[in-house]
Amino acid sequence: MHSKRQESASESLGASAPKMGKQKKWRAGVLGATGIVGQRLVKLLAEHPWFELTEVAASERSSGKTYAEAVRWHLDTPIPAVARDLVVKGLDPSLECDFVFSALDSLVAGAAEEDFARAGYPVVSNSKNHRMDPDVPLLIPEVNAAHLEAIPLQQKSRGYDTGFIVTNPNCSTAGLVLVLKPLADAFGLEKIFVVTLQAISGAGYPGVASMDIQGNVVPFISGEEEKMEAEPQKLLGKWDGSRFVDAGLGMSAHCNRVPVLDGHLECVSIGLKKIASLDEVREALRNFEVDAVLASLPTAVRNPIIVLEEENRPQPRRDVHAGNGMAAVVGRVRECPLLDVKLTLLSHNLVRGAAGAALLNAELLAARGFLKHRVAPSESRLAEPVSR
Ligand code: NAP
Repeated sequence: MHSKRQESASESLGASAPKMGKQKKWRAGVLGATGIVGQRLVKLLAEHPWFELTEVAASERSSGKTYAEAVRWHLDTPIPAVARDLVVKGLDPSLECDFVFSALDSLVAGAAEEDFARAGYPVVSNSKNHRMDPDVPLLIPEVNAAHLEAIPLQQKSRGYDTGFIVTNPNCSTAGLVLVLKPLADAFGLEKIFVVTLQAISGAGYPGVASMDIQGNVVPFISGEEEKMEAEPQKLLGKWDGSRFVDAGLGMSAHCNRVPVLDGHLECVSIGLKKIASLDEVREALRNFEVDAVLASLPTAVRNPIIVLEEENRPQPRRDVHAGNGMAAVVGRVRECPLLDVKLTLLSHNLVRGAAGAALLNAELLAARGFLKHRVAPSESRLAEPVSR
């Protein structure tokens, strides 16, 4: 039977959101701003009511150029005016911003994120490097906002002052766990079997060679199954005040790359702890609603799961932009002869699975008082007394 009820989004948010109308905007930097995820972040930040893009950073290939010169822009809308003329910096942690997003290649993300956190910057990361660290929150605000309580311990144990690292999950884990959360709350979860059909944009640019993916399916994505089997345990588990306690799920994942541009589709079979009818399952998914504080974050959607009745949905081309790319779209809820229930879900790998997820995490950090306005290095120099 369903044991202890897991944390719900409404329990987890604590105090009310700040009155942002009067707030000075927080200045954001993007590490890896020229990549596929970084570009999404740049676009979303250009329109953001709380954050202002002030710095972009990338590799030596790009640094020293203007953003417009350095980036190979992939989005349908033009490069935002606020970003075009910013000079791309390297990974020296002396940027003029209050916090950084990291969309860095995982080959460099681990050390760079630590450098920035040590230098006092909150780091909101997309990369895999620190997700499973025992003191780093792996966060989906609708699922486990209480995991932010690990931040003070992280700062203490690593000797960070105002800096810290918070991560968002792998792009295929993000949609899956969002959909599992209300089922965990209502019925408890025992076993999950998932087969993914993942878009090519999930591999960054240029990603999989066109000759490998055109008219084809590649039944292997390096490291992906391991991430999908590990990350949900932490996300659906608990922070007990000193460590993360895993959810203890039986998990098996098969990951495939398919010739779709954006949107990861996942076929999921679920074993529940408590017997539930299909209608109860649909109802739990449909009724999943975040509380008013979370709903007030600019990137949040009040009902982040959309349940479709049509037997041939969700489909990437038709459904990937649901909820501005922040919703998980579920269809084909039906009985599973092996486990209890099976369904198909879709989520936008670059929005819910990456840039939008990081933005929502940063908004929650702002609402919870974890983001401060740093004194810019140039301002602090001006404030120094002149020595004679
Ligand atoms: P990407 O398109 O390959 O972009 C990588 C970024 O890292 C670029 O800005 C690149 O800068 C920078 N970079 C590479 N080597 C560097 C170095 N030595 N020093 C400094 N910067 C360096 O990758 P992506 O798809 O945007 O993914 C970015 C991160 O997010 C990865 O860790 C990935 O695993 C994670 N992620 C991706 C997705 C997705 O759906 N794509 C989803 C969730 C998480 P240059 O342009 O100068 O080379």
